[in-house]
Amino acid sequence: MSLLRADQDLTRDSYYAATAPREADLPPLQEDLTADVAVVGGGLAGLSAAIELADRGFNVVLLEARQIGWGASGRNGGQAIHGLACDQSEIEAQLGLAEAQRIWNMSIEALDLIRARCRRFAIDCDWQDGYLGLAVNARKARELQTWHERMASVYGYPMQWIAPDELPRWIASPRFHSGLHDARSGHLHPLKYSLGLARAARSLGVRLFEHSAVTALEQAAAPGTSSTVRTAYGSVRARQVLLAGNVYLQELAPQIAPSLNARIMPVGTYIVCSEPLDQARCDALIPSRSAVCDTNFVLDYFRPTADARLLYGGRVSYSTVTPANLAAGMQQRMVATFPQLAGTRIDHAWGGFVDISMNRAPDFGRLPARGAGGGAATASNIYYLQGFSGHGLALTGLAGQLVAEAMAGDASRFDTFARLKHHAFPGGRLLRTPALVLGMAYYRLKDAL
Ligand SMILES: Cc1cc2nc3c(=O)[nH]c(=O)nc-3n(C[C@H](O)[C@H](O)[C@H](O)COP(=O)(O)OP(=O)(O)OC[C@H]3O[C@@H](n4cnc5c(N)ncnc54)[C@H](O)[C@@H]3O)c2cc1C
Repeated sequence: MSLLRADQDLTRDSYYAATAPREADLPPLQEDLTADVAVVGGGLAGLSAAIELADRGFNVVLLEARQIGWGASGRNGGQAIHGLACDQSEIEAQLGLAEAQRIWNMSIEALDLIRARCRRFAIDCDWQDGYLGLAVNARKARELQTWHERMASVYGYPMQWIAPDELPRWIASPRFHSGLHDARSGHLHPLKYSLGLARAARSLGVRLFEHSAVTALEQAAAPGTSSTVRTAYGSVRARQVLLAGNVYLQELAPQIAPSLNARIMPVGTYIVCSEPLDQARCDALIPSRSAVCDTNFVLDYFRPTADARLLYGGRVSYSTVTPANLAAGMQQRMVATFPQLAGTRIDHAWGGFVDISMNRAPDFGRLPARGAGGGAATASNIYYLQGFSGHGLALTGLAGQLVAEAMAGDASRFDTFARLKHHAFPGGRLLRTPALVLGMAYYRLKDAL
């Protein structure tokens, strides 16, 4: 089954779609426009860039193939967490400690940016402070504690350690050993947030079009000239372009950037949402109302919602096939964590695809200029953001800001990320799935030890 077909099925029964009613769809692009910047993709990355560019006086057109927030941004776990999907050691190994610290600090800035935008644009998206990272056994707890101490001493980022005897005050579950709490991270309703950002972008003069899949990109012939993106019924000629299409870009327009396609791999992840619980019963599960992740490589992630449901995510699929009995399977996981929820009804089950990179580090950069082999000196004015690897809710916001800074002439922060090296998944399109499954089997085994 194609990713797009599977994804269409996966989005139908989302709690977010049921609780964030959309206004009428925005019209598709049906004319030929010119702009300073064309943004491809109406997820959090594209919306954030559009807002930041408009703030800097750019004339921006944003094209979304379906609806704003239709992709990962409108249906994720809602957890806005410090750091990146990969460990800081990956960044340190590639860029050294000072740059790794800079990137970490930017990931914290990304959390503050969400709060600032909610205030500035009056976006009501159920923000709740607090994140718990919980170790599932003593070995994982030692690893987590070592990491926690290093983050405090080397990165100057203290979090609260929760010893085993204190844990029952934080979570009513037999599954966990100990953990840490970060008050700066938190969670929100991602579709309400995405739609709020779209309203904000429009209020700043960004022209947004839905149902406008970009199918072709004609790259500028020479530096300083414009590129053109084309949809079925229109086009946008722009001096600079941002590709923020996540895994869908390679499905909708594989020829636009083949070199990018090979560097990310779509991996399915799934979420269920319980019926509303009595508020006191819901609070008893996680009294601080924090978001929670366990420490497994293939992790479970869950949180209470503003209307006192438990939203529980986990499982992965390396093919595009949705697991059979999705709701029942996820319910089993939820009950393994909270046995007291046995018999609780599941009202919603959905999922989506994350764009994982080989090393789980984000993949930001510029396409090579036409006829150039690559490298900074030959980079074009076509920027891309991808590879958030399931950890993009907060980071997409910052990424959009970095693109706007770079397009406005200061690329220093963008280039810190762009210097990270990425490799193509081995085996090409057909073989990379089996290769990844084998790789993940290894990590599952490690999780079980
Ligand atoms: C089920 C799930 C749970 C997750 N949970 C979390 C979490 O709890 N915390 C966290 O930090 N991250 C989480 N993530 C990851 C996070 O949601 C993503 O990293 C982030 O939303 C990516 O934003 P984006 O804008 O890059 O992509 P998307 O939101 O996917 O947006 C890309 C958009 O581009 C459009 N598009 C693509 N190609 C074209 C084209 N050719 N023309 C026009 N439009 C195009 C698509 O239609 C899509 O709307 C989760 C992801 C999933 C799927």
